Amino acid sequence: MALKTYNVLIIGSGPAGLFAAIRLEKLGMNKIAVVDRNSYPAGGLLNDGKLNFDYRVGLDINELQIERATAEKMMREIKQTLTGFPRCRQVTFVDNNRQIIALADMASQHGAQFIAPEQWHWGTDNGKDLVDYLRGHLKKTDFFLNTEVMAIEKLAENDFRLDCRCNKKRINYSARVILAAPGRSGAYWFRDIANKLNIQNNFGPIDVGIRLELNRKLYDFITDIVYDPKFIFTTRRHGDKVRTFCTNPGGRVRMENYGDFKLVNGDALFGKKTNNTNFALINTVALTKPYSDTTEFGQSIAKQFFLLGGGKPIVQRIGDFREGRRSSLSTFNSTTSHFEVCRATCSVTPGDITLAMPARIMDNLWESLKSLDKIIPGILHPSTLMYAPEIKFFDTHFPTDRNLETNIKGIFVAGDGTGKSRGIVGAAISGIIAAEGVMRK
Ligand SMILES: Cc1cc2nc3c(=O)[nH]c(=O)nc-3n(C[C@H](O)[C@H](O)[C@H](O)COP(=O)(O)OP(=O)(O)OC[C@H]3O[C@@H](n4cnc5c(N)ncnc54)[C@H](O)[C@@H]3O)c2cc1C
Repeated sequence: MALKTYNVLIIGSGPAGLFAAIRLEKLGMNKIAVVDRNSYPAGGLLNDGKLNFDYRVGLDINELQIERATAEKMMREIKQTLTGFPRCRQVTFVDNNRQIIALADMASQHGAQFIAPEQWHWGTDNGKDLVDYLRGHLKKTDFFLNTEVMAIEKLAENDFRLDCRCNKKRINYSARVILAAPGRSGAYWFRDIANKLNIQNNFGPIDVGIRLELNRKLYDFITDIVYDPKFIFTTRRHGDKVRTFCTNPGGRVRMENYGDFKLVNGDALFGKKTNNTNFALINTVALTKPYSDTTEFGQSIAKQFFLLGGGKPIVQRIGDFREGRRSSLSTFNSTTSHFEVCRATCSVTPGDITLAMPARIMDNLWESLKSLDKIIPGILHPSTLMYAPEIKFFDTHFPTDRNLETNIKGIFVAGDGTGKSRGIVGAAISGIIAAEGVMRK
């Protein structure tokens, strides 16, 4: 049987893949297909859905080889598309906001940079409806779901064959152009494929840290002004970069299963709020000679937590941490220590995070937390919880030209899994750039 042939085959139906398909259709491309191993075409669009519209957040304009004005123009288009979904609501208003200016001043007095992007949010409970709405923008793109791409073969210039598996059956597709947007979950698979196809790649930095969860009353002061405030610290002791990331007012801490280790993350619902707020505090780690494999380094940290936490992440109360002792189940909600002020929203193992976190990273996190406590006094209440590990593996970087084409002609990349973005809006931008690059070529 003849192979089904496409002009562009997109691997991954996250924001990078979907926005690439939307742009390709708009530019008049035909024979487009999106392949995803999941049964629902969404990638990370099902998670929380905080949108940050600021060229400094979630993307690197130097990496994408675009001007600030181009990034902002693309953001306006993405905003128009996503905020057309009725349950996407604006949660941070930046224009002429005097409180934001005052906060930036206060942060700089304590050595921190403060970024307040315009922000919108739809919530995990609206994720599926949002994706259906977005998919409605695509009129002629084929979707192959439940279909995992196993291998990519280059037959000739601009002639690729994809070896896929769907319901245990092997299926092949052929394409003139491949756009790989496999997200973080597909990053290592794609790196193996890239190595076989001689696509240049190298190790990028990873972010390692904790997720803080506290009674929301202690943080409402700031999240009422900026839903997801970004504080960036350069630590005095080591000169390293630590930042807050992914704040979820009234949200929940969540566990992510990676098989031989587990990580923590967080989200919030649109319709139902908890009494807590959580956010990540992460330290950027880059490695050089003699060992540069940030993936393996991050995984070894995660596995230490997995081991010490009995197969789960670890959580420690600030009150216990300050006293130099582990948290334990018997005193976890002790009223004598005021621990009842914050009830954990995620069930992991009470323990000692300092046993598994590298000392330099722990130093950086604690120094930054103390600075943050000066900007927002009270966040280091004894009941505040530190969950670990929170690790963001954006660690494979693909050198590309301004079209996001790799050194192998006809293979383009976009999104978090290829080092081109760190969030929904950034992933969508990279998808659009790659789509325009495909058309240009
Ligand atoms: C709990 C949680 C909360 C988050 N909250 C936010 C937030 O509020 N705001 C924000 O901006 N970002 C958030 N993020 C991050 C956001 O989800 C990602 O930045 C974004 O989805 C990246 O988009 P992408 O298109 O690059 O990849 P993804 O969205 O990850 O999509 C990649 C797709 O590729 C598919 N795939 C991978 N390998 C293969 C293969 N071999 N064959 C077929 N298909 C494959 C995957 O199944 C997946 O559907 C959150 C992430 C998590 C985990």
